[in-house]
Amino acid sequence: MATLEEIQCKVRSRDPNQDEFLQAVDEVLTSLKPLFERYPKYLSVLSAVCEPERVVQFRVPWQDDRGEMQINRGFRVQFNQAIGPYKGGLRFHPTVNLSIIKFLGFEQIFKNALTTLPMGGGKGGSDFDPKGKTDSEVLRFCQSFMTELYKHIGPDTDVPAGDIGVGGREIGFMFGQYKRITNCHQGVLTGKGWGWGGSLIRPEATGYGLVYALDFALKDGGDSMKGKKITLSGSGNVAQFAAEKCLELGATVLTFSDSAGTIYEPNGFDADKVKKLVAIKDRRGRCKEFLEQSSTAQYLEGKRPWGVKCDVALPSATQNEIEKADASTLVANGCKFVFEGANMPSDNDAIEIFKDNNVCYFPAKAANAGGVAVSGLEMAQNSGRVHWTRNEVDQKLKGIMENIYNTCRDTAADLGKPGDYQLGANAAGFKKVADAMIEQGQ
Ligand code: GLU
Repeated sequence: MATLEEIQCKVRSRDPNQDEFLQAVDEVLTSLKPLFERYPKYLSVLSAVCEPERVVQFRVPWQDDRGEMQINRGFRVQFNQAIGPYKGGLRFHPTVNLSIIKFLGFEQIFKNALTTLPMGGGKGGSDFDPKGKTDSEVLRFCQSFMTELYKHIGPDTDVPAGDIGVGGREIGFMFGQYKRITNCHQGVLTGKGWGWGGSLIRPEATGYGLVYALDFALKDGGDSMKGKKITLSGSGNVAQFAAEKCLELGATVLTFSDSAGTIYEPNGFDADKVKKLVAIKDRRGRCKEFLEQSSTAQYLEGKRPWGVKCDVALPSATQNEIEKADASTLVANGCKFVFEGANMPSDNDAIEIFKDNNVCYFPAKAANAGGVAVSGLEMAQNSGRVHWTRNEVDQKLKGIMENIYNTCRDTAADLGKPGDYQLGANAAGFKKVADAMIEQGQ
């Protein structure tokens, strides 16, 4: 049987230019050493886990408002179907390429396994940039994107959802086109509007789930959210609802950010200020515009929030937003908890710094799994033709996040590394998928 190092080399040599994908694979494989030492049988499926079952790449032609044809590239990576239909979001952002979609799809396999719901891993998207586009341009793009994507998805095959650049508007436009083509109203996308098949709490789920996990970790250590100083990055769906839940639990939210800079409230954003920031974002404005709403706010042009002193950092913007130097600054300023709302926001050097300095580092696959978990609940409601109340979904989400926290903690301890949530999350997710693959003859 090939060794861990041989498998790692093979993956690297196959796709030497896919930096983000190789980073995600290295992170998982390196952290899993204690698992392979304890259970060598799991090495037998490792090569297969690192290779997507199917990659679809397609041309997306659409007409802009001037009547000119534009061409974008679309992707769907169907990574692993061992424990359920492929499941994962669609990202529309100019940086999207195959490496980014593969890293996201790879992460999604383990994240979805941690939710305990029957969902495999997949991801898709396009290098289309919704920023600065009119509603009708976004509509034409989404319709063209779905005109190809519909061939590859289905409620028992592959169920996409949103991610960066894909929210309720885009899901609606894509769902409408899917229905038009197939004549089927079925749960083929999640994140749908509540009146036409969506689930309550789905918009809130990633942010709420992130804070629930943090709250469980704090309570486990005899501590609480009360008075904790929190730096948040991002200002989209995840950051907004994480902030709302932080305030509800008595913590102080100091920052939000976007790609242009960080907005900092030295005494914290109260509920009213969060509302004002959300209103700016709802009209697709920039964080800087919040300066007009508050005389105490400061704008840190071109900066991420990691220089602001805090107890807890919740990176909720995008991949690699915490690099080595940012991690050192956070540690030097006394940050004790890093819970990841975005996917792979800390690079591998940053993770090492957190772990070496006893920061409670809770990785994205576990910390932000609340979003896809409620997507799984949306799928269950769609197939059962039922609607659950807000409270029912919220209680289920809380239960899932508590179970994820306990599983990560217990798995790490069982492998001889108590407190290593990176190992706990990767090992628990990997084991579930690997067992299914072994039982099914890969
Ligand atoms: N894009 C989200 C994630 O990274 C949600 C995926 C989904 O709901 O399928 O987990």
